[in-house]
Amino acid sequence: MPELPEVEVIKQSLDKKIKFQKINKVVVRNRNLRFKVPKNFEFFLRNKKINKISRKSKYLIFYLNNNTFLIIHLGMSGTIHLVSKKNYRNTNVSFYGSSSLPVKHNHIVIFLEKYQLIYNDPRRFGFVKILKNKKNLIFFFNNIGPEPLNSKFKISYIHNYLKGKKKCIKSFLLDQKFVSGIGNIYASEILYYSKINPFKQAKKLTQIDIKKIKYFSKFVLNKAIKKGGSSIRDFKNIKGKSGNYQKEFKVYQRENLNCLDKFCYGKIKKKIISKRSTFFCNSCQK
Ligand SMILES: [Zn+2]
Repeated sequence: MPELPEVEVIKQSLDKKIKFQKINKVVVRNRNLRFKVPKNFEFFLRNKKINKISRKSKYLIFYLNNNTFLIIHLGMSGTIHLVSKKNYRNTNVSFYGSSSLPVKHNHIVIFLEKYQLIYNDPRRFGFVKILKNKKNLIFFFNNIGPEPLNSKFKISYIHNYLKGKKKCIKSFLLDQKFVSGIGNIYASEILYYSKINPFKQAKKLTQIDIKKIKYFSKFVLNKAIKKGGSSIRDFKNIKGKSGNYQKEFKVYQRENLNCLDKFCYGKIKKKIISKRSTFFCNSCQK
């Protein structure tokens, strides 16, 4: 599932490749995404120019002319591919999913001047949305909490939000109203770095725990953005060595393996919290 770092990597790639291009044509092959693709989608986008591509949390925001916006959310399995006449091989703009254009599930094709932007999504939990003015854009993001990279995600905010709450910290890290952009993978990783047990009730977190959560949320996401950027095969301008963040996982998908902390003899366990797999060390995360 693409989380904030993956979406940031996609945003950077798109911004580099398709900014200032005009949309010539749009073809929707399957309207049944998480929300039905609106009827006027193709007509609305036609002849619009992409002035800027931005990101908030896990949402991609395309700034179009006349203060209109296209939002894309990749859901669980969405990927974006840029196909040009020269490039049919490495079309994926992130390291998630297959790097080349899949044969099936290419639901939306946006024909630009130099590229075809293709939205692929086998599970169809993603969606697209058109917002017709700035007010709608602000309203759309009203209920979404600050992301860890934002200065609003500060100690006093975290402390006040979690005060007296019985739910465990892992659930809060996935709660987009509290903090946006962290998904299942990074929630486990952040809590490992913070040495906090994912089952710990939010109200029992100490001031030091909160400091660590704030610090490592930013640390893990920034590191992942750097690594994600480095693994994009066809976008060489993004800095970084080859490889990607999957290789950096400390706990995620490391069930029954030894803890990577050299002072710890614990093992990585997998438990389910809010229906999602959670990985943690049974010894050093208290
Ligand atoms: Zn450990």
